[in-house]
Amino acid sequence: MTAHPPKPTKQSLRSSKRQWSISDFDIGKPLGKGKFGRVYLAREIKSNYIIALKVIFKEQIEKYRLHHQLRREMEIQTGLRHPNVLRLYGWFHDAERIFLILEYAHGGELYRQLRKLGHLSERQAATYIASLTQALAYCHEKDVIHRDIKPENLLLDHEGRLKIADFGWSVQSRSKRHTMCGTLDYLAPEMVENKAHDYAVDNWTLGVLCYEFLYGVPPFEAESQKDTFRRIMKVDLSFPSTPDVSAEAKNLITRLLVKDSSKRLSLPKILEHPWIVKNADPMGICPK
Ligand code: AMP
Repeated sequence: MTAHPPKPTKQSLRSSKRQWSISDFDIGKPLGKGKFGRVYLAREIKSNYIIALKVIFKEQIEKYRLHHQLRREMEIQTGLRHPNVLRLYGWFHDAERIFLILEYAHGGELYRQLRKLGHLSERQAATYIASLTQALAYCHEKDVIHRDIKPENLLLDHEGRLKIADFGWSVQSRSKRHTMCGTLDYLAPEMVENKAHDYAVDNWTLGVLCYEFLYGVPPFEAESQKDTFRRIMKVDLSFPSTPDVSAEAKNLITRLLVKDSSKRLSLPKILEHPWIVKNADPMGICPK
């Protein structure tokens, strides 16, 4: 099995109409484990195309009553075509399992890179924020709100290009996860309060991520969930003196982490922001 995917062919994987089965793939090493199953490196035998195969156990989906939602969201993700949105080429199932044929992200989780480096350079952070902004603008145009953007859901391809993964099909499991495990850090005030929300929740999350990329920790981190909740509601934002971060980057963060969702910087304005214009790589590829 080769490490990099060969160039995609027009036929085979790109045709979502095709009926797939497990015998069409050579299964390789496990890439990771999620809430509902495992992800494996795999090769489509006919085209030699390398993909990631996500295996979900039907029993789990039924247990959490996610069947209809999973189907709907898989249909949404199959229709999304953007360089910064992980492709879902298709899916198939057998008696026990559902298999998702996903674009392979050779660079793995951005989260792992962030933990390894501690924090990112302004150039890297701005490139990722610009890529995310473009992907979100595309999704919003298609009436898709992700609402669960966090470093674990951001993957990198072999060139270091960011890919949004895990397309919101786990809306219910997500809300459960927040209450059970306390990952409130990326949620906008209107979401932690359970109020009606719209696309602007993703803009808030961009501010949280921009902060975390540059400082290595999310801005409202606290000992307990209750304290994180309080800090988010107060927009209790402060910038540590180290690492040294430019005033322009802080300006962008401050203009995204605004409690009134209608006053947050819009996606097109993020792309015009001087910090992005100055630092983001126009190709969305980050120097190592
Ligand atoms: P998930 O079930 O989506 O949370 O995936 C579990 C783990 O598998 C992730 O945290 C990644 O490390 C890895 N993974 C998932 N999808 C891919 C992919 N398309 N390419 C490479 N690694 C992946």
